[in-house]
Order: sequence, then structure tokens, then C-alpha cells
Amino acid sequence: MIVTETTHVSPLSSARGQLAKCVEILGLDRGLHERLAFPDRVVQTNSPVRMDDGTIRMFAGYRVQHNNALGPYKGGLRFHPTVTMDEVTALAMLMTWKCALVGLPYGGAKGGVTVDPKQLSLGELERLVRRFAADMVLVFDPQKDIPAPDVNTSPREMAWIMDTWSVNKGYAAPGVVTGKPIAIGGSLGRLEATGRGVVTIADELLKFKGRKLAGSTIAVQGFGNVGSVAAHLAHQQGGRVVAVSDVTGGYHNPDGLDIPAMIRYVQANGNLAGYPDATPVSNEELVLLQVDVLIPAALEAVITEANADRVKAEFIVEGANGPITPGADAILEKRGITVVPDILANAGGVVVSYFEWVQGISRLFWTEDEVNNRLNTIMVRSFSQVAGLVTSKGISFRMAAYSIGVGRVADAHKHRGLFP
Ligand code: NAD
Repeated sequence: MIVTETTHVSPLSSARGQLAKCVEILGLDRGLHERLAFPDRVVQTNSPVRMDDGTIRMFAGYRVQHNNALGPYKGGLRFHPTVTMDEVTALAMLMTWKCALVGLPYGGAKGGVTVDPKQLSLGELERLVRRFAADMVLVFDPQKDIPAPDVNTSPREMAWIMDTWSVNKGYAAPGVVTGKPIAIGGSLGRLEATGRGVVTIADELLKFKGRKLAGSTIAVQGFGNVGSVAAHLAHQQGGRVVAVSDVTGGYHNPDGLDIPAMIRYVQANGNLAGYPDATPVSNEELVLLQVDVLIPAALEAVITEANADRVKAEFIVEGANGPITPGADAILEKRGITVVPDILANAGGVVVSYFEWVQGISRLFWTEDEVNNRLNTIMVRSFSQVAGLVTSKGISFRMAAYSIGVGRVADAHKHRGLFP
């Protein structure tokens, strides 16, 4: 049965609710709707790992391959205690639309292991990653399914997966994962790509609205890979970044924060706690500040029906995946707050992952300028296509972005037909 409405906010029912709205806008038939609402393949592993005390523990892992109408499955691996099949399936579906939206020759996938990696020793973590990679050796493949980092995974874990897969196959296969360290075939610019793309989109949105990034006030929630790069680039381009936060809390200065100093502070201290040159604010207060642009770049569901009516930002650019719940999204839309959705705003990461995969397969590596210029071209083009639909159909940026992504996948299915 097709779920046609978002009846509760499980990630999969929200993703299917979103799809149902696009199906209506695009006028797709029931058969195609059903095909897009379900993943192609779902793999669950149970990986045994020898712990440091000699005992053996089992860890559940998942890989959901949602759709490969446009190319190999692509998507990150998340290591978190709340990882479930439902969540991974929803995120895989979003990857399908995201890759199609920005014009990459990829389908969508996602994977994960239900674990809190901070509770493991380094040795236990490496044995878990390698065993999970070995259990997925028939699933991952440079031509079929290419993982990347996501929550709690990084270039280090990608290197272990690349090594495990290569050892099992008997040859070095850099193209089996992206987000690798530069030394083994990673791409220049990959680490900064998502934050860079977020700022490009914020800049394009402000221009579209007849405004400018220079001089605009900006608040960024999350000061990790995405948030710190976005804050830094916005600051370099003349934006007034008035608030940033991490898991320890937020910092506010209406005259603008010294972002390079805050990055140095985090490098020296591990996080923002105790940063001296700004007024502390809570993460809850940060998302309610009066700013031109709010960039949530930490967690999902930080703007909900409980606080959406108090958000004072004019524009929201979703750096994180799913920071706004569907109920909150409807409230923001009614209040005239423009939201650029995650599948467009944070697509810079998968775009440069694609560049990394192309460089790995061709064994020809690009300069950082080449990477950044090509990323910029794709982000600007994608924004313009979405903004064009917003203008012509009078729909939200979210609906426009999803409709383009879903429409391209549907079109691919129409051309490819149905086997047998
Ligand atoms: P990260 O781990 O590098 O940084 C996360 C940041 O959020 C840290 O500063 C952390 O302190 C902060 N944080 C954690 N809990 C918080 C809380 N309760 N309140 C406020 N801040 C909190 O992660 P990242 O790679 O920057 O990813 C952030 C988001 O962007 C995630 O939703 C991720 O899925 C999404 N994303 C990342 C990429 C990428 O390439 N890294 C690509 C697309 C989407």
C-alpha cells in the first residue's frame, strides 16, 4: 500500500508523504509512485566483533539501496545508537532525489550500524568497521554502490572500508568509497564541500530575493564540518555571522563574531565551551534569533511545531539533513519564511564525492580550484532550476527541489522501461 499522507513523523512516513505530494504535482501514475515509494533492495547484517575484554558482541548493520535508475547507488554510512531500518530507508530515498536534483549519474542509498562509537575503543571500532565492510563485500562496489561518511563516520572509517574491500578483492579499489583521506585517493575540497555549497546557496537565495550576502546577518547552529566551514566562508564573503553554536551551547554578538578566532579556539579546546568574546545563548535561543539567514547545520528536527511560530529568521538554508519537521515546515511556509531544503542546500558534499569517484576511476586528479569551480557551477545551476520552478509554479523551494529530483528519476524509469 502506498502511504499518501504524513500521518506521523517517522522519517520514512515523512519521506513518503513528501513523495506523494511530488507525485501529485508531476501527475505520475500509481505504478510509478509505488515503484519510487519502496527501496530496490534492503540488506541487513549482524556483525560479530571481538571486544577488548575477549567477549563477542553482535552489531546490526543496514544498507538500503533505494533506486539506481540513474546510476550506481550512492550514500553515507551512519554510526549511531538510534539507527533503524526505517531511518536508513528514508535517508536512502532522499539521496535518490538529491543526486537526481543536482544532476549526478547516481542513484540513492544509505547505510548504518546501530552503535554509539564513542563507547568503543579505537581497536573495537576498527574491528567493527572492517567486519561490517567484509559482511557488505558483495554489496559495496565502485560500479554498484559507493558509501561515504555520515554521522560519526569520517575519512578514517572510509580508509578502513576501502582497505578491507581491496584486500578481499585482491586489488586497490579507491572508487569503492568517497570521503577518503587525500593520501589514498580522496579529493581536494571534499572536506569543505558541503559548507561551501551551503554558502553558495545562501548567496544565490539572497540574490534571488534582491539582497546580498555581504552585510546580511547569519546564525549557524552546529560548528562541525558543515557549520564551521559555512560560518567561515560566509564571514570571508562579508556576511555578519552573529551567532554560532555546538553541542556545548551557542555564542552571540550582534556586531558579528570573529569566526577565524572561534575556529582556532575549537582547534585548541575541542569545542566552543567557554569561548570568551561573545554572549552565551542556548541552542534553543539560537534558532529563534532575529537574523536574515539561519543555517541549521547540526541535527535533525530542531525546528518543530513547538517553536516554528517563534522563528524570526527571514530565510533558512538547511545545512543539516531534516532540521525542520513537516509540521514546522507548513507553519514556516504560512508565515512567509523561505526555506531552501537539505537536498539542495547540502548537496555540495555528494557533488564533490562524485568528483572524487570520477578522479579515482580515471586516475587523474584535479586541483582544488578545479574542484571548487565545478562545484560552484553545479550548485548555481541547481539553484537556478529550483528557483525557476518556484517562480513559474508558485510552490515552495522544498516542493520545487523534490519535484525536480523525483521527476528526473521518474523520467529515467519511463525511458528504461520495466524488466522483464
Ligand atoms: P559534525 O559531527 O562534523 O558536526 C556536528 C556539529 O553539531 C558539531 O559542532 C556538534 O557539536 C554539533 N551538535 C551536536 N549536537 C548538537 C546539539 N544538540 N545542539 C547543537 N549542536 C549540536 O557533523 P557534520 O558533518 O557537520 O554534519 C552536520 C549535519 O549536516 C548532519 O545532519 C549531516 O547529516 C549533514 N550533512 C553533512 C554532510 C557532510 O558532508 N559532512 C553532507 C550532507 C549533510
